Amino acid sequence: MSDCIFCMLANGAIPTAKLYEDEHFAVILDANPASKGHALILPKEHHANLFEMPDELAAEAFILAKKIASRMKDALKCDGFNIVQNNGEAAGQTVFHFHIHIIPRYEGSERIVAWKPGTLTDDLRSEILEKFQSAE
Ligand code: 5GP
Ligand code: ZN
Repeated sequence: MSDCIFCMLANGAIPTAKLYEDEHFAVILDANPASKGHALILPKEHHANLFEMPDELAAEAFILAKKIASRMKDALKCDGFNIVQNNGEAAGQTVFHFHIHIIPRYEGSERIVAWKPGTLTDDLRSEILEKFQSAE
């Protein structure tokens, strides 16, 4: 995709500091980091989201996320990670080229991945199970 910013960053059409690169992926620093070390795993091939990724490439992406986070932990001495992967505008995706956020977390910093807990009622549980099973 010639007008996709992540295609350009992953394939070197726009220079950026790369933490890591291999045949299929580039890992870059997020331009608006949620924390020190916030990185993005980008496939070099354009796929809009997880559902458009070939299974093998998706598996490779999450294995790479584990590797990058492990190395980041040693390098930056962070205390935890949020691994975030948004799909679709409704989920907050703003760049429609698959990416995984690796967000190092540090003791004492505020929670950034949070939601207001709801209640799983009996009706809701039955409705979801029924719909999910019939969608097989
Ligand atoms: P999304 O909301 O789609 O999951 O995340 C997109 C991420 O891409 C955001 O965290 C945003 O800061 C980052 N981003 C957007 N444009 C650029 C860019 O040109 N360079 C870099 N390094 N990061 C970007
Ligand atoms: Zn792209």
